[in-house]
Amino acid sequence: PVIKDPPKIHRLDESVISRIAAGEVIQRPVSAVKELVENSLDANSTSINVVVKDGGLKLIQVSDDGHGIRYEDLPILCERHTTSKLSRFEDLQSIKSMGFRGEALASMTYVGHVTVTTITKAQLHGYRVSYRDGVMEHEPKACAAVKGTQIMIENLFYNMTARRKTLQNSADDYSKIVDLLSRFAVHYKNVGFSCRKHGAARADVHTVASSSRLDAIRSVYGASVAQNLMTIEASDSDPSSSVFCMEGFISNSNYFAKKITVLLFINDRLVECSALKRAIEIVYAATLPKASKPFIYMSIVLPPEHVDVNIHPTKREVSLLNQEVIIEKIQLAVELQLRNSNEMRTFQDQV
Ligand code: ADP
Ligand code: MG
Repeated sequence: PVIKDPPKIHRLDESVISRIAAGEVIQRPVSAVKELVENSLDANSTSINVVVKDGGLKLIQVSDDGHGIRYEDLPILCERHTTSKLSRFEDLQSIKSMGFRGEALASMTYVGHVTVTTITKAQLHGYRVSYRDGVMEHEPKACAAVKGTQIMIENLFYNMTARRKTLQNSADDYSKIVDLLSRFAVHYKNVGFSCRKHGAARADVHTVASSSRLDAIRSVYGASVAQNLMTIEASDSDPSSSVFCMEGFISNSNYFAKKITVLLFINDRLVECSALKRAIEIVYAATLPKASKPFIYMSIVLPPEHVDVNIHPTKREVSLLNQEVIIEKIQLAVELQLRNSNEMRTFQDQV
C-alpha cells in the first residue's frame, strides 16, 4: 500500500469554532427557549411570555418584565463569555442564577438572527438592536418599550442545513416548548407564564402568579391531575450522610397515565435525574401496580457547594454530592407515603 503524507493540521477560524460550540448549546428550538426563560427568571421577572412560530424555526420570542439590560452593555451582550452573573471560577460553588457561562445569547447569534429590545428602570425609552455572529449589526435604536426585555430569534439554524432538515421533519418541538413552560410555571408559581403559537388567540400554557403550587399544577396540568396528588417531604441534616430537603407532590392510586411525568428542580434549577426517576418508578410498580406511571413534582434544596452545575453543556443534568443516599431517602419517603395512603383506602373501604 502507498503511504500518504499525513494531512496538515491547521487552526479553525474563530467563526467556525463559535458555530460548532453554538450548535452544542442550542441543540433544538426548545434549548433556546430554556436559555431565554432562564435569563428572564435571572432578571427577576414576574411575567414571562413566549411566542413560537413553526416549532421555533421561524420565530421564538420571549418577553419579560425583568430588570432589563443597560445601554452600555448592549455592544458586548452577545459576545461569547460575557455575563453579569459570574466573575471568578470559585463563584460557581455558590451560584444562585441559572446562567453563568455567558454563552447562550452568543450561541443564538451564531445559529439565528437575534433582536433584543430592552428598557431599564432608569431609562425613559428602550433600545432595540440586532446581532449576528456575536456582534451588533448597527447602533442600538431608541424605541418605545414597556418594562423589561424582549428577545426574538428568527430563522434558527438557517446556516445549519442538516439540523434544519431533521427538525423540520419532526413536528414535536412546539410540544417540547409547551412541556418546558409547563414545568417552569409549576415551580416558579410567583411568576405568570404564557406560551402560544404565533397568531393563535389561545395560549397553550397560561398561568397567573399564585401563592399555591397546587393551583399552578391545576392550571397547567388540569384538575384531574391536581385532585389526585399527595404532598411528600423528606430531609436529612446529618453532614456525615447527606444534607438536603425535598418537598413536592406525588400522585395517588387514582391517577392513571401512559407515561411517568417527573418535574424535578434542584436548587430551583430544572434538571433531569434518571437514577431518581428509576427509583421512584420501582416503588410505584411495587406498591401501586395499577397506577405505576405517576405524576411527580419535587423540589430538592441542598447546599450550593454540594451541587456541580457545570457537568453538561445545556445544564440539563447536575451532579450531587451523596446522590445515592439522597435518592434512597426520597425513595423511602415515597414508599411510606404510598403505603400509608393505601392502608387508609383499605380502611375506608372496610367501613
Ligand atoms: P448568562 O445567562 O450565562 O450570563 P447569557 O448569554 O444567557 O449568559 O446572557 C448574557 C447576559 O445578558 C446575562 O448575564 C444578563 O446580564 C443579560 N441578559 C440576558 N437576558 C436578559 C434578560 N431577559 N433580562 C435582563 N438581562 C438579560
Ligand atoms: Mg443565560
